Amino acid sequence: MPNPRKPFRINVGFIIHEEVGYSHEIPFEMEKVKLEDLELQNFTGRVEIGRTPQGLIVQGRFEADTKLECVRCLREFTDPLEWEITELYAFTKKSVSESELLVPDDAHIDLAPLIREYALLEIPIKPLHDPECKGLCIECGQDLNVEDCGHSQESDDSPFATLKDLLK
Ligand SMILES: [Zn+2]
Ligand SMILES: [Zn+2]
Repeated sequence: MPNPRKPFRINVGFIIHEEVGYSHEIPFEMEKVKLEDLELQNFTGRVEIGRTPQGLIVQGRFEADTKLECVRCLREFTDPLEWEITELYAFTKKSVSESELLVPDDAHIDLAPLIREYALLEIPIKPLHDPECKGLCIECGQDLNVEDCGHSQESDDSPFATLKDLLK
C-alpha cells in the first residue's frame, strides 16, 4: 500500500527478482500533492518500472495543475503541466547512468525528487497569465488588463525619459 505521506516511494524488491524484460505499471491519481515547494493539483500519471540486466528503468508520464503568479500583473493563475521522466536505477555502481541512481539496499525508491525536478523544468521562469498580459500601471498600480487608467507607461527612470527632458 502506498504511504500517503510518501506516495512516490515504491517497493521494487519484487521487480528485481523478476526476469529481464518484466515490467510493472503503477497508476497515480491524487487531488493534491506537495513535493517540497511544489504544490500540484489534479495529479494523474503512470509509472512503468522495467527490469533490465543493468537495473530498473523507470518511465513516467504525468499531468497536473500548478498555481503560478503572473510576473506582470501578479494575479494567481492555474498552469497545466505535462511531463515525463526516464531514469535508470542501476544495480551496481558499474552500470550507473549520468544521474548516478542506484537501487538502494532496502529496495525502496522514492520518485518524488525526480518527479519534482522534471516538473520544475516545465514551469516558465517568468510566468505570464496570458502572453499578452498588460501588467500593472507603473504610476498607480491599476491592473491594465482590467481597465486603462490613462497614465503613461513610460518610466521616468528610463533613458528615454532623460532624453525627453534634455530635448525640452
Ligand atoms: Zn498577468
Ligand atoms: Zn495608472
